[in-house]
Amino acid sequence: MTSLLFTAVALDRAAHLRRDPAVVDALRHGPDRLVAGFWRDLTLLRHGRALLAQGNEAARLLDLASHVVFLGLLEKRPVFAVDLAQMAAEADGSPPQWENGASWGELRAVGTSLPPEDAAILATGRALVNWHRTHVYCGRCGGPTESRDGGHVRTCLDQSCGAQHYPRTDNAVIMLVSDGDKVLLHRQPSWPTGMWSILAGFVEPGETFEQAVARETFEETGIIAGDIHYVASQPWPFPASLMVGFTARAMGGRLTVDRHELEDARWFSRADIAAGFSDVHRADGSGRPYLARPGSIARIMLDAWLPG
Ligand SMILES: [Zn+2]
Repeated sequence: MTSLLFTAVALDRAAHLRRDPAVVDALRHGPDRLVAGFWRDLTLLRHGRALLAQGNEAARLLDLASHVVFLGLLEKRPVFAVDLAQMAAEADGSPPQWENGASWGELRAVGTSLPPEDAAILATGRALVNWHRTHVYCGRCGGPTESRDGGHVRTCLDQSCGAQHYPRTDNAVIMLVSDGDKVLLHRQPSWPTGMWSILAGFVEPGETFEQAVARETFEETGIIAGDIHYVASQPWPFPASLMVGFTARAMGGRLTVDRHELEDARWFSRADIAAGFSDVHRADGSGRPYLARPGSIARIMLDAWLPG
């Protein structure tokens, strides 16, 4: 079974090194630095791994960066993530070419094919780079903000404001709701044809995770969920979620699909899934439905439930 993607921590976040700008600057210009590049929704790869550029290549990426974040230490070497948004697309609209066999990948698609530690580093970098892109102005006064603490804070430059802004993580619950031998799966309109997964939704202010599980399940499907238990969590930087996984049992209600939120929702038995679903995680041309991608918390929870 694939393990939970984006959770294989190899990085020492070394938060104590972030606070002194001189230390961060020395790491950034030092000989051991490693640099991961991000452009729009894509990340640099090479030979089936995250591209953690070294030496002159690292320097070239840093020179092109519009945002730089110190992610931490990897085997004592400082790792930086850089936003390469300033690089222009190629004339045909494809991502800019990079050096020596580098390619661009979308992390959600390529994550499980990377070494797990690489995927986790890229997930952290992607989340932070995206946060910088969207927080260049102060949410309190509208003034410009500046990156501090190695990219883990943005401070408002308006002296009468001076607000400090921290990277944001959006809590989302994801729940495997079962009723005996059946599991409640749904489809969203934006998903690829054929893909089904368990329910999910964002936690609202003033709510516990468990309350969010019950509310979202009821709002989206009319099913009353109880016996709610935490399973695991997964960073999901698309753009900034933390998926918090729960199991729950159907306690009542009647399946009524909220068509504003979902394309469809249905109960499936283990036998339905074994007989009717493709065992690949994408459309295989057969027209058979398939389950969410391996490595996702949805799939990990489904795989744990399915054998019965
Ligand atoms: Zn401000």
